[in-house]
Formats: sequence, structure tokens, C-alpha cells
Amino acid sequence: MLNEVDFHVHSIYSGEEQCKGFTIERIFRLAEELGIRYVGLTDHWHADTDPSIFVKERREVEKLNEAYRGRVKVFISAEIDVIDHECRLAADLDLAKKLLGYISVSLHYNPKWSGKAGYDLIEDAVSMTIRLLEEPDITVILHPHMIDVAYYAGKPVTRSAFREFIEVAVDNKKVLEIPELSMVRAYYCDVLKWLPSSEVKKQYEVFIREIVRSGCLFTLGSDAHNETRWFDNDRPWFGYLEETIALLRKYGVDESNLWLPIR
Ligand SMILES: [Zn+2]
Ligand SMILES: [Zn+2]
Repeated sequence: MLNEVDFHVHSIYSGEEQCKGFTIERIFRLAEELGIRYVGLTDHWHADTDPSIFVKERREVEKLNEAYRGRVKVFISAEIDVIDHECRLAADLDLAKKLLGYISVSLHYNPKWSGKAGYDLIEDAVSMTIRLLEEPDITVILHPHMIDVAYYAGKPVTRSAFREFIEVAVDNKKVLEIPELSMVRAYYCDVLKWLPSSEVKKQYEVFIREIVRSGCLFTLGSDAHNETRWFDNDRPWFGYLEETIALLRKYGVDESNLWLPIR
């Protein structure tokens, strides 16, 4: 089951250069080829996004879900941005609930939000994440590994900091995304050149071990914007979760905590 899902996928509707040609139809076709049975579309919902793209997307997805019945099922969500320190979202949640199958949100933490020197950025990001987890309409938090926050803070996020918000996720039956390790590493080391590979892997492992230990509901996502990665020697992107799945198996993960919107 772990290798049959991808719940962080962008399509042409995200409007980015790297998504060129990554149509809904192509996503269905590739999913079938790769043996991916369940896909969650998470096109960006920024403050300036026109929500009508999700209406169009839904029309396309409904038709194709019918055509691929029993083989591939695609769910529509969005990667909704947090736009300020008060955890306001780029989307109006009432509208988002009408347009999307379920709500997922990303905290792309901005160190300027806290505004004060000497502020503990990790504590701040943890409390923002907790606030999001307490919002009843939000189901999934995308990529909460906090590697970006560790970079801004200049120190790693500790086990107890992860534990703080993961416990809230468990209590509120929320879903945390575990992103593909090779993608996270490539992005933060090779593209952004923020942290050495060993640091990224260390923090990532603390994060996923805590998820596994806590019994938190989780989902898996490649954050694909296309079939292959534009920055990583054309390595597979969509549906590629091999390093993460290998780690989860090593930790003896219980697949019953793998969340699906239909369970
Ligand atoms: Zn993101
Ligand atoms: Zn994304």
C-alpha cells in the first residue's frame, strides 16, 4: 500500500514552468503505469490564485476518475499557503471546502514574521503548526519536517519540538505528510544549498521516527511538478517515494496509519 499512493502532486494548474505539459490526463496515465492507485492533487493556492482553476480541475478529474474506475483514483486538494504570523490562509476555508475534496495547508515559514531579534524561530514555527492543527477544517499539513526552520534558526529541530506538535496532530486526528527523502535532500542541499546532506537526513529521520512512534496518521508525497525532476538529472519525481518507504519499513511502520480520504 505504501508504494501505491502520492498525495503531494502539482499539475499544469499550478501554473509553474516546471509543470509544463503535466496535465491531469498525463497524471492519470502515469499513475496507472507506475502502479499508483491513489493520488492527491495539491496545486498551489497562493493569495493571488484564481479559485476557478479548482472548478476546472475538478471537472477534468471527475471524468477521468470515471474512465479509470478501479485502477486509479485522484482526489482534489490544494497546497494552501499560510500568509502571515496569525496563520491566516491564502484561501477562504468555506470556499475551499466547496471546491476541494479535503483541505491541506503548507507552512512555508518566514523568519520575518516573528519580527523580533532573539526570538526562538523553532518555538514559533511549532506553535504556528499547532494552531493549524487545531483548525477543524484542515485535514493535512504538508511537509512539516521543519528543515527550513532549522536553517533559519541555525540549529536543528529537536525530538521534543517535533513531539509537541505531533501529539496535537494525534489528539486531533490530523494527517502529517512525510515527503520523499531524496526530494527533500536534493532540494535543500543541491538546489538551495542550505544544509549539508547529513544534516538534512538527520533531522528528517528524527521527524519521521517521531511520527512512527506516535502512531500519527500520515500520508506520503513526492511534491512532483512533473514526471522527472528538473534539477536532479532527470530522476523520477511523480510517484517516486522509494527512500522514504525504505526508511519506514526499517522502522517497522504500521501501514494502518497511512491515511486515505476514503477510509
Ligand atoms: Zn510547499
Ligand atoms: Zn508542493
